[in-house]
Amino acid sequence: MRIINLNPATDIGASAWFVDIDGHRLLMDAGTHPKREGRESLPLYNVIKKEEVDAVAISHCHHDHVGSLPVALRYFPKAHVLMTELSYFLVESVLHNSVNVMTRQREELGIQEYPLFTHPELDDLAALFQGFRYNREVEWAAYHKTRAGFPSPTLEFYDAGHALGSAGIMVRGRKDTVFYTGDVSFRDQTILKGARFEDVKADVLIMETTRGNREIPPGFTREAETERLTQAIGRVLKRRGCVLIPTFALGRTQEILAQLALLMRAGKLKSQPIYIGGLGRVFTEIYDLQAHRTHRQHSNLQLHEALNLVVLDSGQVQKMKLTGGRIFVITAGMMSEHTAAHDLAARMIGDERQAIFFVGYADPNTPGGRLKAAKLGETFRFSPTAGEVTRRCEVQDFDLTAHANRDELLDFVGQVSPRAILLGHGEDDARRWFEAQIRARHPKITVIQPAPGKTIEL
Ligand SMILES: [Zn+2]
Ligand SMILES: [Zn+2]
Repeated sequence: MRIINLNPATDIGASAWFVDIDGHRLLMDAGTHPKREGRESLPLYNVIKKEEVDAVAISHCHHDHVGSLPVALRYFPKAHVLMTELSYFLVESVLHNSVNVMTRQREELGIQEYPLFTHPELDDLAALFQGFRYNREVEWAAYHKTRAGFPSPTLEFYDAGHALGSAGIMVRGRKDTVFYTGDVSFRDQTILKGARFEDVKADVLIMETTRGNREIPPGFTREAETERLTQAIGRVLKRRGCVLIPTFALGRTQEILAQLALLMRAGKLKSQPIYIGGLGRVFTEIYDLQAHRTHRQHSNLQLHEALNLVVLDSGQVQKMKLTGGRIFVITAGMMSEHTAAHDLAARMIGDERQAIFFVGYADPNTPGGRLKAAKLGETFRFSPTAGEVTRRCEVQDFDLTAHANRDELLDFVGQVSPRAILLGHGEDDARRWFEAQIRARHPKITVIQPAPGKTIEL
């Protein structure tokens, strides 16, 4: 068996894993690097351009896992694209939105390589996409003749509990099995129930390590953190300020909206409009429509019925009065320039009544990251367009992650009990922490930190 990590960087980066098992070839995920621009953001497809890839399997529809799928398919035009049926309902909206974002960035930032693919190209590719239920075994190389006399390996999606449609991928060959976690949450979120990885065993484990550098404070619970957020929102609205929660459109947005809906239902939060982004609204509708297919809680909670959701268009952001307690749950976790979240934040930062609440990671080199790091009263450079600003608004960070904590993943390694583990999707210090812990606890497991583009023979 051969495995190649195609992430062009050694951080969380762009997920893409090449697997050759029994002579059949599979690409798992085809992401883009969120901190890089243009072709620099792509996985190292050149490394495998001579390989005949039979199929591409997608773990979930976040950009760092699916954002370069159309580019991958230019290298492997015969490959079929396999994903969960829930991802199948999302993937085209995600990628068409990418075309729009890249086209805008071409104009605003002058990135000539953008867009990396086009709307008509996507429409042509859609016929290759196939959606499968969780826990069905699929022959992924069935469309090709058996290679070297070996029949097609199989593939099975396991619910990963991270965002709608998210999956871990089990690949079963003649003798060996590989399990790729994708992004995983073992705990229940407000909507999605935790991963169903209980009976996963494999010879080789490819594991995400996002939170390997994060220790959980003793006594921390998601419930208490949610309660802290509720109290904080209540205080801001009472002083007639606005609350901005910048967040990614798929997953976190719907989890936050569900929390707000439950609070309103319980009378703990006054009924009022919630302002969201256009893409957030599209995914919220899919969460509602597919509620019956989803392993979730509050399955009767339809967000668009329970809440008065108002889509905020960019022109509105500049004119809207920021008094009287409004709630914004807006796409753009890192507050990149030319987004509604960025422009709203730029107006709110200098006003002490306003509050900006982070519920996820923001890279230190982004406007969101710089705002998160700024102390009250500190003057800092928010972004090139907004320039220097003085932070007077309230800023808080809430840990409502959709990723497994490191101790949970370490227990999972024990359960899977692989011969070898490949560590990916994490910063250097996160992967190092896992390597040391696994070596100490499970000395028989071979721990590998696969370098970008290097072939690992197993
Ligand atoms: Zn993800
Ligand atoms: Zn990810």
